[in-house]
Amino acid sequence: MYINGEWCSSEKNFAVHNPASGEVIGEVPDASLEQVHQGIDAAVAALPAWSGATAYERAAVLHRAHALMMERQKSLAELMTREQGKPLKAAMNEVKYAADFLQWFGEEAKRVYGETIPSARSDQRFLVQKQAVGVVAAITPWNYPISMLTRKLGPALAAGCTAVLKPAEATPLCARAVFEVLHDAGLPAGVANLVTVSDPKPVGELFCTHPEIRKLTFTGSTAVGKHLAQAAAPQLKRVSMELGGHAPFIVFDDADPVHAAKGVSLVKFLNTGQACISPNRIFVQRGILEPFLATLESRVAKLQAGDGMDPTNSIGPLINEAAIAKVDRQVQDAVSQGATLHTGGSRLIDDGLDRGCFYAATLLSGVNPQMVIYREETFGPVAAVIPFDNEQDVVAMANDTDYGLAAYIYTQNLSRALRTFEQLNFGIIGINDINPTSAAAPFGGMKESGLGREGAREGIEEYLETKLAGLSI
Ligand code: ADP
Repeated sequence: MYINGEWCSSEKNFAVHNPASGEVIGEVPDASLEQVHQGIDAAVAALPAWSGATAYERAAVLHRAHALMMERQKSLAELMTREQGKPLKAAMNEVKYAADFLQWFGEEAKRVYGETIPSARSDQRFLVQKQAVGVVAAITPWNYPISMLTRKLGPALAAGCTAVLKPAEATPLCARAVFEVLHDAGLPAGVANLVTVSDPKPVGELFCTHPEIRKLTFTGSTAVGKHLAQAAAPQLKRVSMELGGHAPFIVFDDADPVHAAKGVSLVKFLNTGQACISPNRIFVQRGILEPFLATLESRVAKLQAGDGMDPTNSIGPLINEAAIAKVDRQVQDAVSQGATLHTGGSRLIDDGLDRGCFYAATLLSGVNPQMVIYREETFGPVAAVIPFDNEQDVVAMANDTDYGLAAYIYTQNLSRALRTFEQLNFGIIGINDINPTSAAAPFGGMKESGLGREGAREGIEEYLETKLAGLSI
């Protein structure tokens, strides 16, 4: 753990496993609540100096951290593959994406502008300035175990906030490596603190109720996000929530079905489907269903699962047994209700894969709204295809979800693309594009997918208060 600029241990430790092999790859301290208090106290003590530093001073630390993270790209990626499971190439991409947030918010730190506003009174002036919200508590997930930290710490530190962060219990080693980068970049003691715990609940309660914490930023499941937002409400703490999704991927019949199917095969199986922007319902217009399915089936059948350190594997393991059980339950439910299973549909156990949590890349068609997979987030390697007849129908079907994070549209018709973009109730929409994410672009959801945006100009606003001075002259 990293508290007040020092690496510290605890009375107990907990083990970290490689999900591809089940092997123990390390141990981290299991913080006591008293140690979590120490982390918060350190952030409180560091706040005046850090928020009082110039934006240029804060930016310099973030730029050094960016450079160090890129220098360590390969070793960080290897650690991520061992701890989280994604193929090394994807882990390399994630480290770059993570470093981008440090650079972007190092730049944005210098652009925290205020404004002057004309008054109706001739003897009055209005002056608006922004200031740091204060001490931030952050809770991060295991699926993107490095970039989800910098997406929160980058803007928080740029804005002048100090922070205490609790990573997911499955991926504390990646979190530790991020804090090593910040430490080596010269972040002053106490500005960012890391507490690792095996049981997140008491820490979550403390973060939501501690009077000195002014903001909670969370990425994880909608159920936990709602619980934390409720717990933070009595003190009206500010919250940012990046929660679950159930992305529709809509392929109109004027799109090239082969190109669209290739897009699905890439984005659906990224991170073994363990992404909140992963397509969960693939709507294909009936006229091109056949060529689309033929291409997708042949590509999905070729996806090879295995240890992400082996470059011939394009799919890593799921994070744990519970994830395997959930995916399999959704697949069995769909098949029992009449969905067609084209390929996959079971756990992989041959060639030593039984030691890890591997599920075959799976393609289902004929999925309908009665099936669990139509509504429940899968977080696994299952492409579920649903036919549709016209634009109006598919927009209604796509919006028929409590989630509102990502959506994808494939069409060559510009008017249809814009019409659909405007009618879909989702925060991030890829139009003929499977990767609508960047440190420069706002990421976040509508409805039960969350509150607030990360990245982009908006990202830093989440960590700033607006302050008005009315002056009589
Ligand atoms: P997932 O189902 O994807 O693991 P979770 O929402 O359970 O998503 O986990 C995301 C993060 O939330 C992790 O850091 C986890 O430790 C944390 N978390 C889970 N339950 C709670 C809770 N009751 N209070 C605070 N944090 C929690």
